[in-house]
Amino acid sequence: MSDEFDLVVIGGGSGGVRAARMSAQFGAKVAIVEEYRYGGTCVIRGCVPKKLFVYASRFNGLFDIAPTFGWQVDAKFDWPTLLANKNKEIARLESIYEKLLDTAGVTVFHDRAVLKGADTVALQSGKTLKAKHILVATGGAPFKPQIEGAELGITSNEAFHLETLPRTILIEGGGYIAVEFATIFAGLGVDTTLVYRRDKILRGFDHDLRDGLEDEMRSRGIRFRYGYHIAGLCKDGEGVCVSFSHGEEATFDKVMFATGRHPNTDGMGLEEAGVELDQSGAIVVDEYSRSSVPSIYAVGDVTARAALTPVAIREGAAFAQTVFNHAPTVVPYDLIPTAVFSEPEIGTVGLPEHVAAERYHSIDVYVTRFRPMQNTLSDRTEKMMLKLITETASGKVIGCHIFGPGAGEMIQLVAIPMGMGATKADFDRAIAVHPTAAEELVTLKAPSYRIIDGEKTGV
Ligand code: NDP
Repeated sequence: MSDEFDLVVIGGGSGGVRAARMSAQFGAKVAIVEEYRYGGTCVIRGCVPKKLFVYASRFNGLFDIAPTFGWQVDAKFDWPTLLANKNKEIARLESIYEKLLDTAGVTVFHDRAVLKGADTVALQSGKTLKAKHILVATGGAPFKPQIEGAELGITSNEAFHLETLPRTILIEGGGYIAVEFATIFAGLGVDTTLVYRRDKILRGFDHDLRDGLEDEMRSRGIRFRYGYHIAGLCKDGEGVCVSFSHGEEATFDKVMFATGRHPNTDGMGLEEAGVELDQSGAIVVDEYSRSSVPSIYAVGDVTARAALTPVAIREGAAFAQTVFNHAPTVVPYDLIPTAVFSEPEIGTVGLPEHVAAERYHSIDVYVTRFRPMQNTLSDRTEKMMLKLITETASGKVIGCHIFGPGAGEMIQLVAIPMGMGATKADFDRAIAVHPTAAEELVTLKAPSYRIIDGEKTGV
């Protein structure tokens, strides 16, 4: 005997949970299956614990400037306390996720699911579920390069559970996870080195963000090794000996791979069921998240779209609207604000300068750099940066890039007027909130420079 559902969701992360709850609220009979912990990557071993670690790492910088405000601080850091408190908070959020599903009337399974055709899901425990629709929301997992000794390196998954804080760490990669963890570990006092096969972190981001972050990371003691990669790892006492591709060797207490993430599609019976996968193993979907099999859909990191939690949530919601509320809904991917929770922080939305200059005949670039007010009593030289890019002809704001404290919070709000097509004049109409860093966004006077057909000019 098999249980029958309108929808079986495989994967209890951000996208799957949102889709399950909304579909149930629209009247569908829904089951959800998760083999690990409800909450998925974001809650269990991603955004949420990462941000808690970020907060922990930032006390260091605050203690540095505390004496300039009259505070004398004798601070000591205890890693086990942070881990225990983080684990408690994650467990609390996990139980909330399950409770929300339960309240919505979703049948919750703790099990591993495998597809057995277009309308059947087999659970490892032996149960079979029949479904009119199946939604695959199994996310992704960290990828390690296939090199000798790769098993001696950790990924972000293990970084959340280290028994002791290493004295030294080497992190490979130049993306979000590499720079976020580099500044987390450095902030917690770990001697941190980043190795990246190209010549600058955060490929694809605006060049001022890339340069600004690298400078600040260096000033916090983080070392950069550019232009080569890790070729092999072996044990060296309690540490790990790293052979680099250019022949050098060095030993670190820990080595962490932040070399990207791959979709979780292996061994799920997807191809056997006729679901098309791309070269990276991601599920190929149309604008409504439908796969090559009409009854099977996919949302979140298991598809090769934008690997970001809020995007997965939107895709889950759009799926529920489309399939169970007769309201075909597509997710807009053209203006996704995002933050890198490095120290200092990055917030970015719209086009980076090099892309805007290529796409438009003429753009105006407004850039301002200033010391965050919190640092003005100390001798810290660190600068914050705000940059607005407009199309010259229309004045429309097509890019905004912020580097410094609160950048993530600010960029969320900037994304609203930009989504409405706001111009520089619209920004200027807003009255400044003083004294804040964000006020610079509405008080930028003349462009710093103009780029016409790719040529930088004065204005
Ligand atoms: P990214 O894809 O951002 O970066 C992976 C990095 O690893 C790149 O610098 C890449 O180099 C390098 N790399 C890839 N393969 C190899 C290899 N074989 N050898 C050496 N280096 C390699 O992945 P992340 O793991 O940092 O993050 C995954 C995704 O998770 C992000 O894209 C983002 O969407 C999401 N995320 C978002 C966060 C946020 O919103 N704050 C935080 C963390 C993650 P190259 O540039 O040459 O390709």
